[in-house]
Amino acid sequence: MTNSKKINKKDMGKLLNEWSREFTVFVPSMESGVAAMARWDGKDTSFLDWYRNTVVSPKAIIFPHMEEMFSFQKDKEGYHIELPASDEHKQLIFGIRPCDARALNILDAPFKDAYEDPYYLSKRRNTVLVGWECTNPYDTCFCTSLGISPSESTDVDLMLTDIGDQFLVEGITEAGKELIAKTGGVEEATESDEARAREVKEASARKITRKIDTEDIKKKLLPNLENQNYWEKIAAKCISCGICTFLCPTCYCFDINDELVKGQGTRCRSWDSCAFPIYTKMPMENPREEKWRRVRQKVCHKYAFHPMNFDIIACTGCGRCIRLCPVNWDITQTLNSLPAKVQLKLEKQE
Ligand code: SF4
Ligand code: SF4
Repeated sequence: MTNSKKINKKDMGKLLNEWSREFTVFVPSMESGVAAMARWDGKDTSFLDWYRNTVVSPKAIIFPHMEEMFSFQKDKEGYHIELPASDEHKQLIFGIRPCDARALNILDAPFKDAYEDPYYLSKRRNTVLVGWECTNPYDTCFCTSLGISPSESTDVDLMLTDIGDQFLVEGITEAGKELIAKTGGVEEATESDEARAREVKEASARKITRKIDTEDIKKKLLPNLENQNYWEKIAAKCISCGICTFLCPTCYCFDINDELVKGQGTRCRSWDSCAFPIYTKMPMENPREEKWRRVRQKVCHKYAFHPMNFDIIACTGCGRCIRLCPVNWDITQTLNSLPAKVQLKLEKQE
């Protein structure tokens, strides 16, 4: 007897419908040519044929693009605030890739450890992650440089590996094991199924050929902070569109706005981007008006400042910021081309 289970792909619709009775289920979905996680519609399993990864990362389910924080009313006595009803409904993300599951763990640091964000946390603690091993990564993926593999299961509840007409299913957390134990249509996997899954995982890992050297990356970046010449060259082609940050699964900057119409209002937060020229605009000055400073901030925040604060690099190597940048800006080229001269200077100083 093995520790794993298996499920037939042809039974996927039944499985998702069964899970839908307990959870709001999200699956990979294509709308107007853009892949994102969307609510399971009860029938479409075409993602089994086309899914590689989503364009919009699953972080949008836990930390939405725009979210109402509270509503308020203004009358003669002042403002009256109404908080939204506590959102404790259970949800399940089917097919999250290992890099995107790790991204949620990275987001936990600012939203859970630095302070407790109730909007994020209510969704995070009520979400089950069903991971899907990545058999067909893009040439822009470099997850293995960040300690993640295409079959990494440490950040999900259940892990699926494509072994042909079936998925091998591994229960990772207690929640995942409980879920699969009560799910119908699941069979015991055989030793030959597990051997097939091992082959698939090894083959997937070999497909990740893009690499960066993350060892001492902070020590390489920080001495280059004032190297304007380098950052100007790196930033030259960026058009400050913000796509890389909006689609990045680990970016978490947001803006807060009040909408007030005839005494009725809502306070909303929405994603923001350090790529935008007005992101740091203040009444007296804008410390990042020049583009090179903003590009520097994006790179250094992920690879130097975030690890200084939370002990983890805020990048999973998902490659979206390379794949989807309209001018082909490439973070791996930036990190692999840090000027050696400045690095040598640091080594001498130490
Ligand atoms: S997606 Fe590309 S062009 Fe747009 S802000 Fe990011 S690096 Fe610049
Ligand atoms: S910085 Fe780029 S590669 Fe890294 S997690 Fe964000 S989008 Fe993915």
